[in-house]
Amino acid sequence: MQKGLKIRLYPDNKQINILNIIFGHTRFVYNYFLNYSKENKDYKYTNWSRLLTELKNSEETNFLKEADKFALQNSLKNLSIAYSNFFSKRAKEPVFKKKHNLQSYRTNYTNKNIELYDKGIKLPKLGIVKCKYNKNIKNNKIVNATVKLLKSGIYEASIIYEAETEMLLKTGNSVGIDLRVKKLIKTNDNNKYISELDIDRINNKIKKEQKKLSRCKLHSSNWNKQRKKLAKTYQYKENYMLDNIHKATKAIVTKYDIIYMEDLDIKDLLSKQKLKKHKKKMLTSSLGKITTILEYKCKHYGKELKKIDRYYASSQTCSVCGKTYKVLASEIYKCPHCKLIIDRDYNAAINILNYGIAHN
Ligand SMILES: [Zn+2]
Repeated sequence: MQKGLKIRLYPDNKQINILNIIFGHTRFVYNYFLNYSKENKDYKYTNWSRLLTELKNSEETNFLKEADKFALQNSLKNLSIAYSNFFSKRAKEPVFKKKHNLQSYRTNYTNKNIELYDKGIKLPKLGIVKCKYNKNIKNNKIVNATVKLLKSGIYEASIIYEAETEMLLKTGNSVGIDLRVKKLIKTNDNNKYISELDIDRINNKIKKEQKKLSRCKLHSSNWNKQRKKLAKTYQYKENYMLDNIHKATKAIVTKYDIIYMEDLDIKDLLSKQKLKKHKKKMLTSSLGKITTILEYKCKHYGKELKKIDRYYASSQTCSVCGKTYKVLASEIYKCPHCKLIIDRDYNAAINILNYGIAHN
């Protein structure tokens, strides 16, 4: 099973120059082949790859040799994936990469070209870059590394490595999980796992930084500083969410053997909600991450995730008498038949567990 580790990098000036060269060359390769494939209607990765070798050996473009060779190959692979997503209608047509887009490249592990030390990481072409991380990984388990320059000006490497599977003790317990817009995770033991208060706190900070940015003169040095500060706050929020999702899903797989969840169509769920665009984006990515991380953790720790029919009306059925009525926006479920009054998401989570047990 593969796992990921994010590492903050502190490259020196010389290394920053090399990074810029690699970012630039991978972007050049991507754009060159995007253009080539449009003009020649040739979308075959193997053809591109052969042509790339020719480019590296031709006098005009032999500067490409300065870059990490895996970074260039992976740039072609990304283009190939972008095209296959486009042709199977999962994504829009690939577009040219611009300098102000996110800068990143991926390199692969071979013959100890990537190694982690106490306070540094060896990366191809860069040598040892100062870094911070808090996990012990065996160097020969590293699969690849993606190096990024974030909008906040921070350099980061994401390492993918092979992790041993660990089994968690069986507890004999099952749980129903209701994934919701507001509380994100609600379980039938009436726990919610991600605190709205903290998210509100970060959102307020973002608003404050945005306001400050709007008062700065466009492209001035203060504006630039403030822009980075805002990007850092966004980054903090993303890390915070991810960290909480990891904690919540770990707690759930530790406590339960079988986890029932609705087979949600996240886009469809959110399309029915009146939400601001950025909130929708955040929720799509958070709910998506919860599902993938939970799936992955169940596999990793020897637990089971079972998805139940997405058309089962979990939030509109009374968990006591089984009758249904249409709850509107209210957070409280008040059953008109048996007079039950219960938190709406809690009611849904109980239904999901009962439905899951009955139908599996
Ligand atoms: Zn009832």
